[in-house]
Amino acid sequence: MSDVAHRAPTSQPLIWSNWARTATCSPAGRARPRSEAELAEVVARAAADGRSVRAVGGGHSFTPAATTSGMLLSLDHVSGLERVERLPETGNALVTVGAGVRLHQLNRMLAARGLAMRNLGDIDRQSIAGAISTGTHGTGARLGGLATQVRGLRVIGVDGTVHDVGPGDPLFEASRLGLGTTGVLSAVTLEVVPAYDLVAEERPVPLAEALESLDGPDGVVATSDHFELYFFPVTGRALTLRNTRVEPAPAGRVARARRAARSFLDEELLSNGAFEMVNRLATAFGGLTPRLNAVSARGLSARTYQAPSYQVFCTRRRVRFREMEYAIPRERVRDVITEVDDWLRASGENVPFPIEVRFAAPDDVWLSTAHGRETAYVAVHQYWRLPYTRYFEAAERIFVTAGGRPHWGKLHTRDAGDLAPLYPRFDDAARVRLEHDPEGVFHNRYTRKVLG
Ligand SMILES: Cc1cc2nc3c(=O)[nH]c(=O)nc-3n(C[C@H](O)[C@H](O)[C@H](O)COP(=O)(O)OP(=O)(O)OC[C@H]3O[C@@H](n4cnc5c(N)ncnc54)[C@H](O)[C@@H]3O)c2cc1C
Repeated sequence: MSDVAHRAPTSQPLIWSNWARTATCSPAGRARPRSEAELAEVVARAAADGRSVRAVGGGHSFTPAATTSGMLLSLDHVSGLERVERLPETGNALVTVGAGVRLHQLNRMLAARGLAMRNLGDIDRQSIAGAISTGTHGTGARLGGLATQVRGLRVIGVDGTVHDVGPGDPLFEASRLGLGTTGVLSAVTLEVVPAYDLVAEERPVPLAEALESLDGPDGVVATSDHFELYFFPVTGRALTLRNTRVEPAPAGRVARARRAARSFLDEELLSNGAFEMVNRLATAFGGLTPRLNAVSARGLSARTYQAPSYQVFCTRRRVRFREMEYAIPRERVRDVITEVDDWLRASGENVPFPIEVRFAAPDDVWLSTAHGRETAYVAVHQYWRLPYTRYFEAAERIFVTAGGRPHWGKLHTRDAGDLAPLYPRFDDAARVRLEHDPEGVFHNRYTRKVLG
């Protein structure tokens, strides 16, 4: 038995499951290598033994993206800061980290060096490799998702070879958002920016008013650095979140700002015990949900605060839920929101969770959900103890009709046949996968379904 296999903790449960409890697997083997060299050895050995190989990050995908019956790898120990190269022309920097680093660790590493990610999603529990591999994104009509911030990768191939690749190399293009199907990412180089604060403005508004304010050159989407919208089904009430990038506040003020950086959404809604109680009540007494939603929506309040960017972007999500999110052509978003809300109204479906709407710039990442088009993301959520199938199926019909592309890490029912026509570089990515992994060692059932 190899050294690495000895180090695989025997106390780990035989069944792995994701955060949302929507995916489980019983891997034949598990390993937590301590270095890139060990990682390469495990991959080569597992592949030679005819096992499939999947890496897992934070297990925060709702889809079974990380599952395997073969070898499941954790890169929690391949997560250190390797290199920081300053780029004097822009003030930016190229930062190389072990691919298993969690975003909350990365954010702190960067902050300690006066640096920050250009944009982030809602939470920071994911690994950088898992986040880019599924197309994790935040919001901002001039900004792309996390994969657009990647400038280099090291990818471990089936025979344990370490491929060091950058922009223009087909392996790079297929791997920076590839669901782990081109190999195991061992290191990621990101272009990051000088640290900045965000001035966060949260405002409750009627949903109709929020939708009116979205479009055009003077609309909130175009004029905000980061704009997003939440609304409770059927209540007609929304909360808009507008974040503006500013110079970091001086040290003393930062401490005060940090204390004040408790957004309504974070502290008083999505992460707290009261919201858990609301959801339990809705589960036990479905008829109460419209009134509970009205109470939640009426509780939305205006506030403004300033804090370091990563503290504003990332909040906690302690109330467990299931989610589907589609990338919609930007110009279709108002119709899509209205149709989803109309369906909820007509069906009377029991949904005590808000709907989230975000925005992104077009990008050139081959399998990015924002590839080549101005994008709005519409996400539907459901409390984990409540049924979600009927709601998500109805929402998916609306999203698909609007030309939507599903988030690779969130629930959906599309397959490769549906998805290929939506991605101009779909076949290029398939060619790279076939060249580097002809036996499909890095695949699982989910990747076969969605990528072919
Ligand atoms: C509460 C919550 C909030 C979320 N908020 C957002 C959000 O704001 N925006 C958004 O876009 N998404 C969001 N997501 C989705 C989430 O960001 C993605 O699903 C992401 O993939 C999770 O990262 P992870 O590290 O948990 O990856 P995992 O789920 O563990 O893995 C995801 C994929 O990456 C692959 N992978 C992991 N590590 C490696 C590696 N080293 N090499 C190769 N492949 C690898 C896995 O095999 C798998 O295919 C959220 C999810 C939850 C549960």
